Amino acid sequence: MDSTHEEPSFNFPLFIHLNPDLEISMNYAERIQHLTGSVARDILSRCQDQSIISFAGGLPGREAWQGLDLPKPEVTSFQYGASEGDAGLRALFASRLGSIGVDVPTEQILVTSGSQQGLDLVSKLWIDPESAVAVESPTYLAALQVFRLFQAEMVTIETGPQGLDLERLEHVLKTHRPRFLYLNPTFQNPSGNCYPEDNRREIAAILDCYADHTVLIEDDPYRELNYEREEAPLPIVSHLKTANWVYLGTTSKIIIPGARIGLLAASGSFISELQKLKQAADLHSSRLSQQVVLELLSNSEWVHARMKHLQQVYRVKRNLMHEELLKHANEIAQWQCPQGGMFFWLRLNQRTDLKMALNRCLDRGVAFMPGDPFFAESTEHGQWIRLNFTSPDESDIRRFLPVIFETIGQGE
Ligand code: PMP
Repeated sequence: MDSTHEEPSFNFPLFIHLNPDLEISMNYAERIQHLTGSVARDILSRCQDQSIISFAGGLPGREAWQGLDLPKPEVTSFQYGASEGDAGLRALFASRLGSIGVDVPTEQILVTSGSQQGLDLVSKLWIDPESAVAVESPTYLAALQVFRLFQAEMVTIETGPQGLDLERLEHVLKTHRPRFLYLNPTFQNPSGNCYPEDNRREIAAILDCYADHTVLIEDDPYRELNYEREEAPLPIVSHLKTANWVYLGTTSKIIIPGARIGLLAASGSFISELQKLKQAADLHSSRLSQQVVLELLSNSEWVHARMKHLQQVYRVKRNLMHEELLKHANEIAQWQCPQGGMFFWLRLNQRTDLKMALNRCLDRGVAFMPGDPFFAESTEHGQWIRLNFTSPDESDIRRFLPVIFETIGQGE
């Protein structure tokens, strides 16, 4: 018998990857044409490879790990669990939401693997190819990445320090009838804007008039990173009367992002569809992480001290960054000092080739985030940059911020 006939002819995935011709003929789903890489994550991976000082990502600073003793996981968390999340943690999230004006029963809450998973689940539930989805301009770029994957038709609404453009909102809701409106109104990524109370109430009143077709998705990861006042204004969902809503929260910015624990709360019966989507996506979020988060957040003294610590260290860095920007960027850019969150959002006085400037910066050991990917329209503004102030050390802020503006200044 010819020994070659004894070889089974399975199409091992490994073989497919090793054979470029076969790879070309693979039948990917149509939506994969709409799959874009995240610019931020690309820059981040280059930063990790080359120990570059990064102002590009949205990472906590190393002070966030200081004195952070994580509880040891118990055997009970080694087992598979419920898709909707552990009961104790959902109840705790319900009570935290109640304290910011969002009265929602525990059954209407899912524990998610970060709020990023919440974005994926709502996209799966509501977006068909060419469905209209309304987003802020600018908006969170990884939300755009998911909405694009599901082939949403993005409709934009201007946002600024005074909040959302209400006239445009009304027009968009009336004429485009978006499946949902995605907002990050509290210390927004990337702009740092925090919508004033009045603007929030007006947005809610307008949404209530279009409750039959548009759901509000409120993404609220930065609420606790609040440097100027006792409390950030209540979420917009707390003002809604008839419109449906989904609220996304996370523990990434207040505990550790590596735990990947977020929450999704929803107003309607569609929570059961979201729960099934969650089941299909990952069965459930890490039970080890859920246990750790529950134990930490159940201790109100710990929570209070933790918030004070983070607010204090990030406030110092924010103030330093603002001072350094006044020294090095005043001639070439404009910005507002953010009241919370993790970012400065700068508008350059002139259009600049920011890809070239970024490459030059990377060669000099520092990274920033060009602003264009935060706009849903593919226009090249070449005029915006986002700078993270929570991750770099104070000495790095002093040393490397001038390098960024020297490089950008040369490119003008
Ligand atoms: N939404 C916004 C606006 C964010 O900035 C981030 C993190 N950068 C996320 C969602 C995702 O956060 P996580 O998945 O870590 O909860």
